Order: sequence, then C-alpha cells, then structure tokens
Amino acid sequence: MKHLLTFLLIAFTCSLYAQSEPHPCGSQPHISKWYKKYVANPHVYKTHDSLVYVPLKIHNVGSDDGGGLFAMDRLLDALCTLNEDFKQAEIQFYILGAIDTIYNSAYNSHASVLDGAEMMFANNVDSAINVYFVSNPAGNCGYNLPYAGIAMNKGCSGPSDHTFAHEVGHNLSVQHPHLGWDGNVYDPNEPTPTTVTYDYTYFKDTLILDTLIIDTSIVELVDGSNCSIAGDFLCDTGPDYLSRRWQCTSDTLSTANQEDPNGQSFRSDASQIMSYALDNCSYRFTPEQIALARANLFDQKSEYLNREEAQEVITEDVVLNEPFMEQIVPAEFVEFLWDDEGIADQYIFELSRLRSFAFTDFDTVLSDNTLTLTDLQLDRRYYWRVRPFSRYSFCTDFSEPSEFITSETTSTAEMDGARYKIFPTVLPGSARINVISESSAIAGLSYSLTTISGLEIAQGVLNQEGKINLDNYASGIYFLTLAQAGSRHVQKIVIQ
Ligand SMILES: [Zn+2]
Repeated sequence: MKHLLTFLLIAFTCSLYAQSEPHPCGSQPHISKWYKKYVANPHVYKTHDSLVYVPLKIHNVGSDDGGGLFAMDRLLDALCTLNEDFKQAEIQFYILGAIDTIYNSAYNSHASVLDGAEMMFANNVDSAINVYFVSNPAGNCGYNLPYAGIAMNKGCSGPSDHTFAHEVGHNLSVQHPHLGWDGNVYDPNEPTPTTVTYDYTYFKDTLILDTLIIDTSIVELVDGSNCSIAGDFLCDTGPDYLSRRWQCTSDTLSTANQEDPNGQSFRSDASQIMSYALDNCSYRFTPEQIALARANLFDQKSEYLNREEAQEVITEDVVLNEPFMEQIVPAEFVEFLWDDEGIADQYIFELSRLRSFAFTDFDTVLSDNTLTLTDLQLDRRYYWRVRPFSRYSFCTDFSEPSEFITSETTSTAEMDGARYKIFPTVLPGSARINVISESSAIAGLSYSLTTISGLEIAQGVLNQEGKINLDNYASGIYFLTLAQAGSRHVQKIVIQ
C-alpha cells in the first residue's frame, strides 16, 4: 500500500500530452532492490524450462459517449503478436476473465502518468498484469507503472508493433539496454561521458514529495569490461546510448554510429524489443533478458503462475452455414448460423455492406454460434464473417466472407381474424420456413407442402416455435397450406 500512496502523492510532471508523434515508451528507469540482487547473482534463481502461462486483465477504454474502444479484432491481433514475441521466453499470456470495458474520456486520453495511475488503482484486479488500451497514454506509445499496470496506445498496438511486448518486458522488470540515457541525448560531437544521470522520481519506493530523485548510471563500454555494472547490468544487450526512436540498417544495427568513452565506435543492436529501434527492426529478447523476466515471475510474481490449465489453440477457420452464399433473405429477420468451433468460446461477428469490411453495419462478440438480426435494409447486398477466439488462443483469422441479399420475402396470412407472418418465402432447399403471430398461438396449426403439380411432399402440425424444416428440396415453386378450424391460407414458396 505504501507504494500506491507514494505513487499518488509524488508530484508528477509528465506533460507530453497531445504531441503528434508519441514517445516510444513512458516507463521510467527502475533499478529495484530485487533487480540489483538478481544481477549480482542470477544463477541462484530457479526459473525452470517449462512453458508458463501468465494472466492479463484487459481493460478496453473508450470515451464517455460509448465510442472509441479498441476494435476487438485488433485487440486479438495485439495479443497474438505479444505471444509470438514471448514464445522465445516460453512465456505465454491469456485473458483473465471477461474483458473489462471502461467508458471514460479522461482515462482514454490522459495527460499525465498520474491520471493513468488513478485509472489503474480504480480498476485493477489482483494477481494479473493489468493492461489498459487507451487512445493517448500521456503522449507515449505505452508505459508500465510498477505496482500498477500497463497503459497501451491503441495506435501503437498494431499486429507488427512490439511496444506491447516492450511494456510487458518492463512489467517483468526488464530494462532498456540504453538505461541511464533516458532524458539524455547522445551527442556524437562531444566526448562520451563515463557516467550519465537519470531521473527515477516516479518509481522510488520512499515517500519524498516534490523532490527529483536522480541515480547515476555507468556508461557501458564496447569491450564488455564493465557490462555487469553499467547500463542495464546485463552483458548480452551490448552498449546502446540511443534514447529516441531510431532506424536500423539491413543487418539490424542502428544507422547511428556511436563512440564509447574509450573512443571505440559501435552501432546499437536493433533486434532488441527493449531498445527504441523502430518496430520493423526489433523482434527478440536476449537470453539474459529472458532469464531475468522468468526469474522475476518465479521469484516475485509466483501468484500469476499455475492458476489455470492451458487450453488448446484454435487452428481451423469457421465455416459459415446460414444464410448461404447469395441467398435471398427477408430484411426484417435474418438468422445466422456457423459451425461451432469447439475450442473457441467466443466469436467476433461482422456484417458490412462493403466487401472490404472497411466499415461495419453491425459487429459484436458472441459466445454462441448463432445470431438473429432484424430490420436490415431492404434490397441490399450484405457481407458477413466470423472470427473465433478463446482466452488462450488469439492468432485466428476471420472466415472467408459470405454474402446475401435482403428482399421482401415475408408474407402475411389471415385466418379466423388472426394475422400470421410467413417467412422467408424464397429460400434454399434445406432451410426453415417460420410462422409467427403476435396475437394468436401457433401451436396446433396444420400445414402441408405440395409441388406445383399437386403432389404433397410434407405435412404436419406446428408447435409453438412455428418452424417448418425443409430437407434438401429441389429448386422450384411449391405451395404451403396453413389450416386452422375452417380457415386456410395458401402461400407460394420459391426454393432457390
Ligand atoms: Zn521502455
């Protein structure tokens, strides 16, 4: 609790709000007592070789008016990339419980890390990494607050971005390879100092108000002679003095040349996710970073581990069944059905009038493999698709889209003063005809279906659901006769 109070009471000065290009990372350097103890003797920490599963509590933050949420398929893509990035560390993440939706414009675009801390303290759950997807995390692509959680910029959380893995790396105590240079700018025209100082006010675990807390970092040499006491204290991350976003060469080194305090020149390793190299350069954690992250999990966050049995991964795309391709359906009542994916416990459903799905007319997340929509626009072509996922499996694709056309295919019948709706009257050979009534019972109505030549091919009595199932009938014109007491209604039916 002391940490939380410290956090709230310290004067925050971050004012990077609303700058056009977000800063790569707002996480401050943080060499904790545990970190120092670890790097002094990393081999005593038991981290096992097995794959471990770590829970993420996802908070999807939108604006007060109910808009601005991170689109669910993009959220899944971000989680997929995170797990791809952490495969090398044998750490995989899953969604703990339901995804939390928060409509709060002040949280969604927060000017300072203090606002972010308030958001986290108000919504965090215990024993999980809490992640908040917002539109503007204090001017950064993301940041991690020790004792609180991670704020991610939705715009920096694309499928090819590694900021999410970078911030989760921080959450598991991994530091920038350029530790000490945050807040400083390397100047190739000046002699490189042997030490740099950095501000870690936000994260100092003592109650000191309105006071900058400065630490000194030894500048890492190219020859590796001081690697265990310089920079991030790790020896396989190499020297790196670049504290702003930087570009890489084709051999994954920084385009910028640097010189260490001994005058030896070098380029930074752009492959490291914990560096500020552009996303197209970075893809990995170093072995020492991985050992550090795993030690932090096992030694400091063991409550995250072994909480649930991991589930299988979804490998199959969903098959769409109804409406079938090019089917003509009644605009006022469309039933969708797709194959139950088994392992999937949820589905993203999208309906659009654009083949590209650039805009959707309707989208939702469902735990069932069926959906009914009413009141679509008449005489329109619609496209629909479904993406399965589970709390453990996000690297899935949308199904191949299917399409259908809405038309006036609902007919009205009147019998004994009661009105019935019959739909669709144009349908495939294996489908259902529905009979509904707002005023009268359906159960007890008798029906028969005859061909155009008068041959009866089906007959029976409806139950209250009012469904007549067709079984692989040939294309053509049929007649449906409904009868009740002395009254009857004949309806033409077209099988496509
Ligand atoms: Zn960072």
